Amino acid sequence: MPRIGIIGGSGLYNMNDLNIIDYRKLETPFGDPSDSYMIGTLEDKEVVFLARHGRGHILPPSDINYRANIYGFKVLGVEWLIGVSAVGSMRKELKPTYIVLPDQFYDLTKKRVSTFFGKGLAVHIAFADPVCNLLNEVIYQAALKITADVRKGGTYLCIEGPQFSTKAESFIYRNWGIDIIGMTNMPEAKLAREAEMCYSTIAMVTDYDVWHETEASVSVDQVVKTFAQNIATAQQVLREVVKLFPLERNCHCHDALNGAFITSKEFCSNEMIRILKPIVGKYFT
Ligand SMILES: [Zn+2]
Repeated sequence: MPRIGIIGGSGLYNMNDLNIIDYRKLETPFGDPSDSYMIGTLEDKEVVFLARHGRGHILPPSDINYRANIYGFKVLGVEWLIGVSAVGSMRKELKPTYIVLPDQFYDLTKKRVSTFFGKGLAVHIAFADPVCNLLNEVIYQAALKITADVRKGGTYLCIEGPQFSTKAESFIYRNWGIDIIGMTNMPEAKLAREAEMCYSTIAMVTDYDVWHETEASVSVDQVVKTFAQNIATAQQVLREVVKLFPLERNCHCHDALNGAFITSKEFCSNEMIRILKPIVGKYFT
């Protein structure tokens, strides 16, 4: 069975219930992942956990090596990838401690490499539906089981950070129809799709963004405090999620690259194909 990957966001640097079998420190052609991967079992399912910011929260969002992280998961046999993320709420009804399972992203990041591909191997994947709806549904059912406040669907806006938004920005994002705001899911979701993994996000609302007039400005302290409370919920949800595996993978995440290569076969870079073998190997046998 393919392994289940979990990316822990702010506050989630370890999985309490994970029976750890191994720590794997990987080097990838794209550099070092955020930390060692923790490989273990959760409810008898093989799980690979990575702290997105590194244990101790060393890395700010712009310095996370998203390509190395996703590549590492791929090498370790992960086909299902669940990100856990702290987010701000842009909607009154999405109160702190709510879980949102976004089904859309809006990418406002500015300085992150968002693809594995490039010169010698040009690729355009479809990204109209950026998360795996099958995985989203499974997480939704798991969250209902523990009676968490959960909403399936919504648009996650990813900003570059590290600063939080100004009020002007926050009001504009609301007018755009944004539901939640964070700093890490892009390009993570894009890279997971390029790597043909099923990807979904458990977005935990820590606060209202600054549009909310009665709220004090967002502070790191407050975010971390509320997120600590959300961590217990996230771990409960994840335990229920893995219980529902194995799943029949009747989605299209696993063949996302099929038909996406645009470089003529005879011009494809052998070096790129070699570097990306864990991801594209099956298309260049
Ligand atoms: Zn999928």
